[in-house]
Amino acid sequence: MPIRPLSETMINQIAAGEVIERPASVVKELVENALDAGASRVEVVTAGGGLNLIRVTDDGSGIPEEELVLAVARHCTSKLSHDIHDIRSLGFRGEALPSIGSVARLSIRSRTASGDSAAEIGIDGGRVSAVKPAAANRGTTVEVRDLFFATPARLKFMKGERAESSATSDVVKRIAIAFPTVRFTLAGPDRSTLELPATDDTPEGRLARVAQVMGKDFPDNAIAIDAAREGVHLAGHVSIPSYTRANALQQYAYVNGRPVRDKLIAGAIRGAFADVLPRDRHAVTVLFLSLDPSTVDVNVHPAKADVRFRDPGLVRGLIVGAIREALAGAGIRAATTGAAGMMAAFRPGAAPYSHPGPANGHRSYEAAYHASGSGGFDPLRSAQRPLDMGEARAPRNGFAENEQAAFDSGPLASADARAGMAEPAEALLGMVLGAARAQVHENYIVAQTRDSLVIVDQHAAHERLVYEALKNALHSRAVPSQMLLLPEIVDLPEEDAERLAMHSDTLAKFGLGLERFGPGAVAVRETPSMLGETNVQQLVRDLADEIADNDTVETLKERLDKIAATMACHGSVRSGRLLKAEEMNALLRQMEATPGSGTCNHGRPTYIELKLADIERLFGRR
Ligand code: ADP
Ligand code: MG
Repeated sequence: MPIRPLSETMINQIAAGEVIERPASVVKELVENALDAGASRVEVVTAGGGLNLIRVTDDGSGIPEEELVLAVARHCTSKLSHDIHDIRSLGFRGEALPSIGSVARLSIRSRTASGDSAAEIGIDGGRVSAVKPAAANRGTTVEVRDLFFATPARLKFMKGERAESSATSDVVKRIAIAFPTVRFTLAGPDRSTLELPATDDTPEGRLARVAQVMGKDFPDNAIAIDAAREGVHLAGHVSIPSYTRANALQQYAYVNGRPVRDKLIAGAIRGAFADVLPRDRHAVTVLFLSLDPSTVDVNVHPAKADVRFRDPGLVRGLIVGAIREALAGAGIRAATTGAAGMMAAFRPGAAPYSHPGPANGHRSYEAAYHASGSGGFDPLRSAQRPLDMGEARAPRNGFAENEQAAFDSGPLASADARAGMAEPAEALLGMVLGAARAQVHENYIVAQTRDSLVIVDQHAAHERLVYEALKNALHSRAVPSQMLLLPEIVDLPEEDAERLAMHSDTLAKFGLGLERFGPGAVAVRETPSMLGETNVQQLVRDLADEIADNDTVETLKERLDKIAATMACHGSVRSGRLLKAEEMNALLRQMEATPGSGTCNHGRPTYIELKLADIERLFGRR
């Protein structure tokens, strides 16, 4: 066959293959167009999962009658004038409408503020019809029927009405978070109506929109993020460690207002939460990055969900640093949802848990955790000793013994611990975790604040404290290493070898001694002692990948942190250990002073709090 140019319709269908993957992608493109047109209301209606009908109506600027033909022509856009590096709109490629029109039946009815009437154009499987007069208010209505009728192969890949409708809801929610001042509605015979009334563009307004999308309990269980570094600004919210999900779908990220799904951002979130969440749990996050548009490339893929940062290390560092700092600053806090579940369980004759229970007051937690540890029992002091790496031969169980010794030193708790104690000091009642009153079932410390009852899982709490201490010890000085009998040679692509060599000083700090070994190889002479027998090849390759992706060596740090966690687990006070009143109170104060101690190393809460008001409700007193 001789070489021939493709027809316009085929060119558009090829483009549609990338841009229009499923009904949700049509909705995304049309809603983006409405927002680019400055709409304050966007209404989406779908039928048959969007395969039969998608209709998006907005009250934006509208399209002048004489431009309707261009709107559905390929590579025609009103958004990009001269500089591809300065993109401030959601669209810029000028290919969504012609792509949709090539695989479906599309009609656009529009009226501008200055136009005396509306006009309409249609495009049906690539065939454009003449512009006709129409009746409409200011704004634009785009209707898409019979999606993929012109490309039956694609139609076969659709997942069924329910899955497609829910993908569409997700698209609308994701974008709505970035536009709090716009009212969104999503309706149709294939779904229950979603209404997101406009809020405003203040921190409260933005959080209110987030709550409309993610549920009212998110703000109660989230910490605000606000940080900047070298012209990059990060704002938003992340969940506290005890409020997690089984997947990362509830992680929303925006770059200059554009929803993105970015590997670097997802990796940074994982890194930031690495020590407070178990491997299989995921934080809930809403993060907005703003930076100079010329330092980020959004023209990576036609769907525009991928981005490339000019300085990925800076972005990653900012995210990890800001989240860790916020988590540390938030101190100790258990998820309100846990307490709500507990309330339901308490209810006399309660049926299986259905309603989230009485509203949980928003707790003021910030103020109180600056308390310093009191004297007497100090789990940290004993915890640090075995990790003093100057004499790091202490085996793991040696550590555990030392740890237990701290508890064996005094007489076991006498009856006072079990039978309740004298009236607690007023000052203690004002602390976040209050005054210890009793230990029950040999593992739970029952404490009292002015307005609540607190129950602490003593083993989980202590494990966390030991872990934090180990980590501090680990990262405050060089990590001890052991010499390999024979250096291990790792063959790698030359760029990877080069990158590793560039980071060799940092790696040495973490106990990994390596150097260049001719072209395309590194020689590893020392590994961190804590890792024991380790797969050096795998470790070095993982590190090379990570440096390539993110320009950091977090992997090694995370592995060491994992080991610290395991040691902590073995070294913590077992449940079943009786504690004296001072010991219990010291543990509570230590928890208040230790960032991250609201959850154990496995991400479970270390304590729960039941408000007095809720207890009174349980007894029908309110
Ligand atoms: P892009 O958004 O990349 O410019 P599209 O194919 O999505 O490309 O849209 C082409 C043009 O049609 C836009 O540049 C814009 O001028 C116009 N347009 C599309 N939808 C709307 C809308 N809802 N309101 C106003 N103008 C619109
Ligand atoms: Mg567009």
